[in-house]
Amino acid sequence: MSALDTAENAMWRQKARDVAEKVVRPLSKKYDDLQEYPWEIRDALAAAGLMKVWIPKEYGGEAGETPVLNLCIVVEEISKADPAIGVLFAVNALGSFPILVGGTEEQKQRFLPRIASGEKLVAFCLSEKTAGSDAQGLKVRAVASGEGKWKIHGEKKWTTNGGAADFYTVFAVTDPESRSRRISAFIVEKDMPGFSIGKVEDKMGIRAVPVVETVFDGVEVGEDRLLGGKLGQGFKHAMMTLDRARPGVAAQGMGCAQGALDLATVYAQRRQQFGQSIASFQMVQKMLADMATQTEAARQLVYSCARMLDAGLPNTSKVAAMAKLFSTDVAMKVTTDAVQIFGGYGFMRDYPIEKFMRDAKITQIYEGTNQVQRIVVARGILKEAEALTHLSAYIPEEDQMVYEG
Ligand SMILES: Cc1cc2nc3c(=O)[nH]c(=O)nc-3n(C[C@H](O)[C@H](O)[C@H](O)COP(=O)(O)OP(=O)(O)OC[C@H]3O[C@@H](n4cnc5c(N)ncnc54)[C@H](O)[C@@H]3O)c2cc1C
Repeated sequence: MSALDTAENAMWRQKARDVAEKVVRPLSKKYDDLQEYPWEIRDALAAAGLMKVWIPKEYGGEAGETPVLNLCIVVEEISKADPAIGVLFAVNALGSFPILVGGTEEQKQRFLPRIASGEKLVAFCLSEKTAGSDAQGLKVRAVASGEGKWKIHGEKKWTTNGGAADFYTVFAVTDPESRSRRISAFIVEKDMPGFSIGKVEDKMGIRAVPVVETVFDGVEVGEDRLLGGKLGQGFKHAMMTLDRARPGVAAQGMGCAQGALDLATVYAQRRQQFGQSIASFQMVQKMLADMATQTEAARQLVYSCARMLDAGLPNTSKVAAMAKLFSTDVAMKVTTDAVQIFGGYGFMRDYPIEKFMRDAKITQIYEGTNQVQRIVVARGILKEAEALTHLSAYIPEEDQMVYEG
């Protein structure tokens, strides 16, 4: 329970914590070793109703007053036990946000209830081998194949949940000549002819959730699967999705940091050296204090960003990018220090602490690298600098050329 949780936040936190402690933590090592999709964990998450947290009631969910914050709280609690399961869960929100933000009413009614019940899993297919940070540079094509029909050709890279998922939101080029309306999004199902799973990645971290190449060999889709029923909206929908999803990755990073800090605290209190607990050494206390301060700062930034999104405030890209980059940099720093506190035992696979460090790394890379997040933040600041024009009287007269980005 966090001091500022509303009754609704506290209800979601408790539900998530129960599954995290009873099911996720005990199975964590098994699925990290196996690198296999943990269906028994998916079943427990679905049975607890956690897949309903981001989906509105009219589409079978239970999203309440603060759906983004509730989602972040659930991801935080799961990630404290196992950050890989944090993303295994959150990637379903990433995959379904395009439908939520851009789908037609018919598409929402058709796909979202089955995601909310946990019956169907969903994946988000944007990145390609040669298009990661440069999401405008997609090569996968959807070519008109008749009245209101398209055939999708090409390969997507790094599809998290691929193979386990039933639905795939796929971004493809429909108008190669256009700059702003080049891309459209489609909803593909795994049993459609021409769809298959390619290479299954062998990963450093988040090993319980599959990351794969997805292959589209002339997958035919009708207008009913064109997201929002309109061509050329794909890039806009992808960016809207990422703005909503980034607080979830930030929560994964923050939960990962908190999980590692909790283990390091328990270990520091119990480990004896020189006849005393290592927690009595000031250098260890400094590490714990810095880890706790950074994790709490990340938590407050994630919650504040989530509350802004829940309030429907405009221009939230900057704060979503801040939350993502800060929390995930904290995750990497805190988990590395937690391994340090465990000493030699920290480096061994016998204990879960090294897994937190491996799982932390990817959070700085996916859903936009932290370099890309810094670009988003800098652009936001420079755009808002118009409001600071009055300060130009306080800088040298010869430095008045304005850089607008
Ligand atoms: C495990 C995993 C899971 C993933 N899951 C998904 C998923 O489910 N769906 C999906 O669509 N994608 C997914 N991704 C893709 C992920 O979002 C991309 O890997 C990420 O956006 C970076 O793209 P890239 O790997 O091509 O790196 P690149 O874009 O090639 O970047 C390489 C380096 O250059 C830097 N760089 C690039 N451009 C700039 C710039 N303009 N300024 C400064 N530095 C720059 C980057 O920060 C990075 O350090 C996943 C990736 C991984 C590894």
